[in-house]
Amino acid sequence: MGEMWENWSGSLHFSPKRIEQPESEDALVDLVRRAAEGKRSVRPAGAGHSSSLLLATPDTLVLLGAFRGIESYDPEKREATLRAGTTLGEAGVLLLDLGLAMPNLGDVDVQSVAGALATGTHGSGKRLPVLSAMLAGGRMVTASGKKTEFSLEEDPDLTRAAQVSLGALGIWTALTLRLLPAYRLHRREWCTTTDRCLAHLDDLIDRHRNFDFYWYPRSDRVKLRTMDPPGDVPESIPYARLVEDKTGWSNEVIAKTRTLRFDEMEYAVPAEAGPECFEAVRQRIKERHRKHVAWRVLYRTVAPDDAYLSTAHGRATVTISLHQNATLPFWGFFNDIEPIFQEYGGRPHWAKKHTMTADDLRPLYPRWDRFLAVRRRMDPGGLFLNPYLQRLLGEERA
Ligand SMILES: Cc1cc2nc3c(=O)[nH]c(=O)nc-3n(C[C@H](O)[C@H](O)[C@H](O)COP(=O)(O)OP(=O)(O)OC[C@H]3O[C@@H](n4cnc5c(N)ncnc54)[C@H](O)[C@@H]3O)c2cc1C
Repeated sequence: MGEMWENWSGSLHFSPKRIEQPESEDALVDLVRRAAEGKRSVRPAGAGHSSSLLLATPDTLVLLGAFRGIESYDPEKREATLRAGTTLGEAGVLLLDLGLAMPNLGDVDVQSVAGALATGTHGSGKRLPVLSAMLAGGRMVTASGKKTEFSLEEDPDLTRAAQVSLGALGIWTALTLRLLPAYRLHRREWCTTTDRCLAHLDDLIDRHRNFDFYWYPRSDRVKLRTMDPPGDVPESIPYARLVEDKTGWSNEVIAKTRTLRFDEMEYAVPAEAGPECFEAVRQRIKERHRKHVAWRVLYRTVAPDDAYLSTAHGRATVTISLHQNATLPFWGFFNDIEPIFQEYGGRPHWAKKHTMTADDLRPLYPRWDRFLAVRRRMDPGGLFLNPYLQRLLGEERA
């Protein structure tokens, strides 16, 4: 047994035989070839913030911490190629120096660019898709131990599969992202009642570039978070009290620092079902879980995209996530709410807690079989499949 690996929330532990930290692409190629010869599986890891079993392996875990920084950029196309282990936060600072920025970020920016994209990480905003939609191409080390370039122009099928690929197609070393000119945002947080928020929900979602809300089960109140170009929207929301106000570059204001550890279940439902699904979740929590769930429920919106395994594939989306303090039991709570999400056609966040496997997931993803066809083309022997991915995708190692 090797060194113990623990994820960010502390809810996952496993002991890979080897934890490797290659310093160069050639070293990575060598490592992949040796694993293939020895019929060992390999799992690439980013910052270890996922809490599903994507990384859990009895064999080799590969950390890409040495692959950091910007490799190249094209100001005319507004694209930059980032090394895969760069964190979103580091990328934001480096891109700002080039006058560029990512269109959106999630709640934190400590994930690696590769890890965030591989699981379809998203922020909130009706017109803003998952971060993976930025991916225009890149370079990976494939199961055959080759460095392979890919791009939307040259191989749209591979790239659409790669955009959300759970580390199952190859090990990314560099990712080319489509970006925006650097922009500033006015971030505000507001407190109000849940009923007022729900009565104005469509307007809040339409009006603000980024909008989401936290519902606090204990008080049954909400915190609204809005982000807009400075000077673009009215000074106040008449039915809410302003509690935080900040303006800065997008990479400085979208993400926050989270020190309290938590576990999370999140489902993506069709946008039109969002309010009703949220009400059903709220009702169930009030009836059964209010006493032991101190944490909040987060409601976000995501624009549709066409990555084969994006949780917002082909549909305007609302995501609803349950949080539970990392020191408290969470499965009883999550298991009780999960069927409600599923009733509304929910797709689980790939990196968070859920219990779905291939048979449940296939009907939810119109491009499921295309993804599997690309996976088999890229990795016929299943070098990148761990036991969890085999169950999740319904695929076997050769
Ligand atoms: C505090 C916190 C806040 C979060 N906020 C949000 C949020 O706002 N929105 C949201 O959608 N999600 C959110 N998440 C989930 C998070 O974005 C995902 O778990 C993300 O995958 C974590 O990235 P990571 O770098 O830690 O990747 P890891 O957890 O290390 O890996 C995740 C996946 O990426 C793959 N991968 C990593 N590196 C490579 C590579 N080089 N090549 C190929 N595949 C690779 C891995 O194999 C694995 O399948 C949050 C998680 C936490 C803990």
